[in-house]
Amino acid sequence: MGFYRDTGVVLRLQKLGEADRIVTFLTHRHGKVRAVAKGIRRTSSRFGARLEPFGHVDLQLHTGRSLDIVTQVQTLDAFGGGLTGDYPRYTAGCALLETADRLTSEEGEPARELFLLLVGALRGLAGGARDPYLVLDAFLLRAMVIAGWAPAITECARCGVEGEPYHRRFSVPAGGAVCEGCRPSGAVVPSDPTWRLLEALRNGDWTVAEGTDAAARRDTAGLVAAHLQWHLERTLRSLPLVDRRGGVPRVDLGEVPGVEVDDDPGDGHLRSGNPSDGALRPIPGVAL
Ligand SMILES: [Zn+2]
Repeated sequence: MGFYRDTGVVLRLQKLGEADRIVTFLTHRHGKVRAVAKGIRRTSSRFGARLEPFGHVDLQLHTGRSLDIVTQVQTLDAFGGGLTGDYPRYTAGCALLETADRLTSEEGEPARELFLLLVGALRGLAGGARDPYLVLDAFLLRAMVIAGWAPAITECARCGVEGEPYHRRFSVPAGGAVCEGCRPSGAVVPSDPTWRLLEALRNGDWTVAEGTDAAARRDTAGLVAAHLQWHLERTLRSLPLVDRRGGVPRVDLGEVPGVEVDDDPGDGHLRSGNPSDGALRPIPGVAL
């Protein structure tokens, strides 16, 4: 029992009784922390608007029997201010928070790298200079690297042989790029610009990433989302809300237990001529 300090990002809020909330933070040193903010829903609350989603805060907490108690909050960066009112940035931000939450199941388990990645991505989104979709996909790819699920990009996921510079096919169940000898059925065929964008986002090479066209960005988004959701064994609620112009191609995972996929093949906008060959497909209804 006692007090401790940390910095954290507010991932989400839940109501608790009349006036309180449970706040879920991703913290720098203590991983995911769920703590009670007492009286936060009263207009006179000393926490004010500091405990809102996207807030990067300096915290003092008191260890409780089941949940810790927030005793002091100071805003370091009010990232929410740069996101609300800008639908693409806001929805991309929601996907960042949901992914960070899902990737940290155990409370108290340190997640320092993910925390630093999240703060950097929120800064990139709120700053407004970078394309919000590239920020999101770079975050998702690098979060998967941290989680140990990095998709193979230049090497075959099964036998490890290097592509020249890339292999032709990508298989989510196999773990990413696959050589012709190892490829399972249903592997998709990304374009060269899509491979280059995947590699650039993973490596943080913004010069290459920002030089890519809309088709490569759209297909990369589809592959990243499919790879992430395969490993999470569930879909993310916030990803379909991300306002990507032209929609995001759905990567056909076929009959995969535990992963929900939409059976509608869409309007036939394909990267290759044969849908059963595992082409990338748009998600119907996502284009806004
Ligand atoms: Zn291989």
